[in-house]
Amino acid sequence: MAGSKIGFIGLGNMGGPMAANLVKAGHQVRGFDLSPASLAHARDEGVTTSASIAEAVGDADIVVTMLPAGAHVIKVWSELASLVPTDALLIDSSTIDVDSARKAHEIAAGRGLAALDAPVSGGVGGAKAGTLTFMVGGSDEAFARGKAVLEAMGKKIVHCGTDGAGQAAKICNNMILGISMIGVCEAFALGEKLGLSQQALYDVASTSSGQCWSLTSYCPVPGPVPTSPANNDYRPGFAAALMLKDLKLSQAAANSVGANTPLGAEAAQLYSLFDGLGHGGEDFSAIIRLLRGNAKA
Ligand code: NAD
Repeated sequence: MAGSKIGFIGLGNMGGPMAANLVKAGHQVRGFDLSPASLAHARDEGVTTSASIAEAVGDADIVVTMLPAGAHVIKVWSELASLVPTDALLIDSSTIDVDSARKAHEIAAGRGLAALDAPVSGGVGGAKAGTLTFMVGGSDEAFARGKAVLEAMGKKIVHCGTDGAGQAAKICNNMILGISMIGVCEAFALGEKLGLSQQALYDVASTSSGQCWSLTSYCPVPGPVPTSPANNDYRPGFAAALMLKDLKLSQAAANSVGANTPLGAEAAQLYSLFDGLGHGGEDFSAIIRLLRGNAKA
C-alpha cells in the first residue's frame, strides 16, 4: 500500500537504492545509517534522512533493515524494538545466519511486534532496478502485511515458510551457486588443456545436461555470454568476498543442524583461498584464475 511510513536502517550499496525505490513508490521513507556518505547519497535519491534510529522509526508502520551481518541486525533490532509503534512490522533484508534471524524474530515477538526475514538476490543492479527476488520467512499475517512494500523493491516475492525460512532459502541457493560456478570453471579449465574452444564447450554445455545459471548468465570466460563479468576483467559483479560470506553462512547452518555438505565445505575453502590472495573484490566467476593456477597474491 502506497503512503506507508517506513523507517529504513542501513543505506549502503543495497539499502540506498532499495530505500529510493520505496520513495518512488509513494512511501514516506525516513532513513538512518552510521555512515555520513551513505546518508548523503540516500538524501540525493529523495530519502528523508534522520540523525538517529529513534528519529527514523518513531512513527513507522514498517521498518526495513539492510545491514552487513547478524550481529548488526541483533544490535539494531534490540534498540529499535522499543522505539517503534506497538503495531509496527519489522523486516530484515540483510543476508545473515539463520540463528541470528530467528533471534531477531524473538526480539520482535518479545515486544509483540510482527516480523519477517526477507533476504534478497539480484545484487546492486537488482536493488537499483527494483527487480530483486525476496525470500521471506515469517507468519502468513506478517507476510500479507509486508508483501506490497517488498513488491516496491523487487519483482519476485516468495514466502518460504516460518521464522528464518527466508535466510535458509538464501544460503541454500547460494551454496548451489558457489558449487556450480566452481564446476563450470573446472570444466572450462579442463577444456582449455584438452584443446577445446571455449565457444564449442559453451555451445554444447549450455544446451545439454551441464546447463546452469553459472554457465549461461555468468559464463566465467569472455566471449560466449557478452554480458558476463568475465568480459570486463571480472568487474563489477557478485564479489567473491560476498560469495565467501554466504558459503560460510551455509557451512555454519550445516554444522548447527548436522547436515552433510562436503561440496559446500570445499567451495568455502576455495573461495577463502581466493579471497586471501586478494581477489575478494572480483566477481566470483574469477575463481577460474585460481583453478587454472594463475591467481597471484
Ligand atoms: P554495505 O556495507 O554497502 O551497507 C551496509 C550499511 O549498513 C553501511 O552503510 C553501514 O554504514 C550500515 N550500518 C552498519 N551498522 C549500522 C548501524 N548500527 N546502524 C545504521 N547503519 C549501520 O553492504 P551492502 O552491499 O548494502 O549489503 C547489505 C546486506 O545485503 C549484506 O547483508 C549483504 O550480504 C546483503 N547482500 C548484498 C548484495 C550485494 O551485491 N551487495 C547482494 C545480496 C545481498
